[in-house]
Amino acid sequence: MRQSWLFSVVHKLLHLFNWLLSTPAYIRYALVLLLTAFYFCLPSPLFDVPYSTVVTDRDNHLLGAHIADDGQWRFPVADSVPKRYIQCLLAFEDESFYVHPGVNPLAMLRAAYQNIRSGKIISGGSTITMQTIRLARPAKRNLWNKVIEMVRAIRLELHLSKSEILTLYAAHAPYGANVVGLEAASWRYFACPASELSWAESATLAVLPNAPGLVHPGRNRNTLKTKRDRLLNRLLEKKVIDTLDYQLSIDEPIVEHPATLPRLAPHVLASTLKKTPGTIFQSSLTEKTQQQAIAVVERHARTLRLNQVHNAAAIIIDNQTAKVLAYVGNTLPDKNNADHGNQVDVIQSSRSSGSILKPLLYAASLNDGLIWPRQLIKDVPTYYSDFSPQNYNRSYDGAVRADEALARSLNIPFVLMQDNFGTERFLQFLRKTGFTSFPKPANHYGLSLILGGGETKLWELAGVYSSIARIVQGYVPRQSRYDAADLSMPLLNKHDTLTIGKNLSTVPTWLTAGALWFTLDAMTRLNRPEEESGWEAFASSQKIAWKTGTSFGFRDAWAIGVTPEYTVAVWVGNADGEGRPGITGGSAAAPIMFDLFRLLPSTSWFQTPLDDLNEVAVCRHSGMPAGPNCEVADTMLVPHCETRPKPCPYHHLVHLDQSGRYRVTSDCYSPSHMLTRKWFVLPPLTEWYFRHKSPLYNTLPPMLNGCIDETLSPMEFIYPTQNVAVYIPKNIQGDNEQVVVKIAHRNPTSKVYWYANNIYLGETSQYHQMGMQLTTGTHTITCTDEAGNRIMRRIKCLNKE
Ligand SMILES: [Zn+2]
Repeated sequence: MRQSWLFSVVHKLLHLFNWLLSTPAYIRYALVLLLTAFYFCLPSPLFDVPYSTVVTDRDNHLLGAHIADDGQWRFPVADSVPKRYIQCLLAFEDESFYVHPGVNPLAMLRAAYQNIRSGKIISGGSTITMQTIRLARPAKRNLWNKVIEMVRAIRLELHLSKSEILTLYAAHAPYGANVVGLEAASWRYFACPASELSWAESATLAVLPNAPGLVHPGRNRNTLKTKRDRLLNRLLEKKVIDTLDYQLSIDEPIVEHPATLPRLAPHVLASTLKKTPGTIFQSSLTEKTQQQAIAVVERHARTLRLNQVHNAAAIIIDNQTAKVLAYVGNTLPDKNNADHGNQVDVIQSSRSSGSILKPLLYAASLNDGLIWPRQLIKDVPTYYSDFSPQNYNRSYDGAVRADEALARSLNIPFVLMQDNFGTERFLQFLRKTGFTSFPKPANHYGLSLILGGGETKLWELAGVYSSIARIVQGYVPRQSRYDAADLSMPLLNKHDTLTIGKNLSTVPTWLTAGALWFTLDAMTRLNRPEEESGWEAFASSQKIAWKTGTSFGFRDAWAIGVTPEYTVAVWVGNADGEGRPGITGGSAAAPIMFDLFRLLPSTSWFQTPLDDLNEVAVCRHSGMPAGPNCEVADTMLVPHCETRPKPCPYHHLVHLDQSGRYRVTSDCYSPSHMLTRKWFVLPPLTEWYFRHKSPLYNTLPPMLNGCIDETLSPMEFIYPTQNVAVYIPKNIQGDNEQVVVKIAHRNPTSKVYWYANNIYLGETSQYHQMGMQLTTGTHTITCTDEAGNRIMRRIKCLNKE
């Protein structure tokens, strides 16, 4: 059957071909010419017009749009047209759209008849395809143009599918004033995407292009309603809608005023306009979270403005996918519309990092086995040749647990940690995470890097902390393996995805899950430092790992919070860099961060990555690997690592006389009468500060008269630090001033005698510091005490350039 049908077609074609061959040549040429002309009769591209730049959320909800270059609100051509609108449009304009080949002779005859009868043009009998051609190339309405339109319509039908033609029509239909296309009209008149239009709204937008002048608030609205309702009635008759739908629809009022388009992501729109103008950027944002996040930032911005702080930015990331849920690039302009740089996208701006990188250094040090979480780190006056770090509260703890140093954001322990880790290595480590904001060599930043000596971007910061959450959260479910895809900057494009599961390995791509888990754990125990008074007010019921940062001169206030599910990062300050007293991460940025967390569903906590933790014996006092003299060793978990910190150096065997009140040595006391004890002894300088903060610290008993301790020196140099050059200070006239050398003595009542290059300088008691006139070159400083103890340091003096 099928074969015979095919045979008949081929037979007829051959017949036609034979007939063509028999015709005169000029007919053949004319025919070829006509066919060629027909083939090329469509202008390319069909629509040569500029489009608006559009940003939507992940569900296609409009977040913002920029007008097209020709001043029209013309959204880029969509992928499809909503079904409801199509049914309205075809019922109104072109009922046999799916059947005709581009032109509909019957409709044209009917239109001609109607026009003649009424004596004026009521209908053009044009199909949607013909109207699409006319929208693309508007031309004077005459018979000749109509013929061209018809030919091109037929050609378009051969070129595109019916639904593609509908998409083109919908995208370019006029909707009054400068609104072009269904999507723009839908937002402008009904403040919703075309996919959410009701029957009444769809009907309104189906009849409007026929007479776009009908949409003017307050004018012609009755005419428009009549047209709309007539169309709804037709839909009812054709059983497209039921009676209930019909009743509800005709009761819907006609649009009053055009809506203003949403402006929910101005900074994302600006960057889309720069990178891909005239396109739709479907972002990963969600309209609701974005709206709420803007409201939170604006609520705080009103208070901040009272203190002349005009800018703030916030970003929320879904950790599992790395997708950005909210992107608030800056505050809205104030009510006076004063220019405070609100158009600047602060999320992408480089700003001084303050203390916000400390958790990363802590994690890197844990990862490399340089420290353990409870290990004591020194917190004493520390001097480098050009730099002397200070804690925020200007005091010293002597020694402090590493996790507590992070929780309290102490500066000195972290400068020592960076010195120990190596600035160059720390920079390499930061760059490996994806930070691009540390491009300069190590000596540019120096040891102040960890205190905010470098600049970073909220975007990159949020990306790195979100990566940390992914690594720790993924470790246990993936059977103790790492996924290279976890380390990723945030994704703002809905269609970008992490390639999860392709590169699984037991070897970490970056840091171990154990080191990161301990870091997050320390960040939950943030012991608010003095700078952040009033923090209890926003303490959250949720468990959140968080850290704040404040840059030098109160220019930048940061806060970042992490849970397994979300990362929230906030920056507050002035875009022009003007600092304001009292603007700190804790007082200005953290409250916004906590309020943003309140918008999100409640979160869980990270599973402990037991496979990446080791059980070890830890000295209870020092938090370091327990040595033979340690009094109590606890069994604890620490991050797995091949190397480990040095064993506890602070526990010593101490020999006492029979009374237990004096220390003795075998040189001055009979060993058979000695008592031997394990004793926790910090170096003199550390002890000086530590014992004030720790009442339980037992200082060493004094030496028995006539005994000298060769092992535990009671004295320690404070300044100059070992192996650090000393720059000779100068007065205003440029003359050399004294170099002040400082030492600490364990015994508060002891006197100290000072020598420079074996020349006696004088004695000190209680506070041991001595000014000395030194020339450039190397000098030997010696101190002795009443008991005959002696310390010596060689120092190198330089003239400051
Ligand atoms: Zn110990």
